[in-house]
Amino acid sequence: MFNTLSDRLTATFKNIKGKGRLSESDINATIRDIRMALLDADVATTVVRHFTSRVRERALGAEVSKALNPGQQVVKIVNEELVQILGGQTRPLTLAKRPPTVIMLAGLQGSGKTTFAGKLARRLRDEGHFPVLVAADLQRPNAVTQLEVVAERAGVPCFAPERGNEGGAAQGAEGTTSYGDPVWVAQAGVGQARVRQYDVVIVDTAGRLAVDEALMKQAADIREAIQPDEVLFVIDAMIGQAAIETALAFQQGVDFTGVVLSKLDGDARGGAALSVASVTGRPIMYSSTGEGVKDIEVFHPDRMASRILD
Ligand code: GDP
Repeated sequence: MFNTLSDRLTATFKNIKGKGRLSESDINATIRDIRMALLDADVATTVVRHFTSRVRERALGAEVSKALNPGQQVVKIVNEELVQILGGQTRPLTLAKRPPTVIMLAGLQGSGKTTFAGKLARRLRDEGHFPVLVAADLQRPNAVTQLEVVAERAGVPCFAPERGNEGGAAQGAEGTTSYGDPVWVAQAGVGQARVRQYDVVIVDTAGRLAVDEALMKQAADIREAIQPDEVLFVIDAMIGQAAIETALAFQQGVDFTGVVLSKLDGDARGGAALSVASVTGRPIMYSSTGEGVKDIEVFHPDRMASRILD
């Protein structure tokens, strides 16, 4: 991902890197190239506008540096501003002072939530935690089984409702399937984790193919019921411009504390996903880079910026 963007920016910088002097028109031309490269990579227009105006302002006002020539200084400014767009600091997972830490996952169907649940659980297990997965995605017939498979692969337990054996089913709550009411299942799962002394509970929730009110209400109800320490919004980096709209809808509907960029191993343009932190003000915390249980990385804005500008 980001190869094209990276190539374009590198080519732009090649023109100015060795220059001992940069005129205002050199700077303007560079910024024009950067703007086009970002827009072509699907970075949100509001983000591009803010980014280029910051770079321009700083580049024109840049102090004379002994260590860097003017071209290198512009590259440094672009790097620093890109880090800001990507959220600034690395944001580690918040662990509850009194376990269990409750992590809720939200996002569209197919975004990679279930896969990510397994990866995060495995990673936490490897770090010495005792995580458990809770299957509160009761929308698709297969989702519960899929999470059980993922849990097995990750080597962690999974709390899943038994068919026809839950409180919510009898009440016929909205979103109820033969598995029962997802809010009830999520709450019961967290309760069980507490009793059995697991220290991290990862709750997988239902997604739909597009944002809709029932989906948002269900996710908001689950959030209200389980009071998670983190709500991670999983977004498929390959969905292009729709990423921004989707992120804003989830922010309004459920709100979230952090973002997971999934499918970063793909070769789409991905710039929209890079805009999500800037547009929502929520940090990108992880990236998901494949279908395997170990294909997960903590997201470091500075490393991602360097990777893009390398
Ligand atoms: P959910 O509906 O949000 O739970 O999404 P899933 O976890 O079921 O993922 C949907 C599809 O995307 C599955 O075929 C996954 O194997 C695939 N997938 C998930 N994460 C990644 C990733 O990081 N990279 C790639 N290449 N595929 C992924």
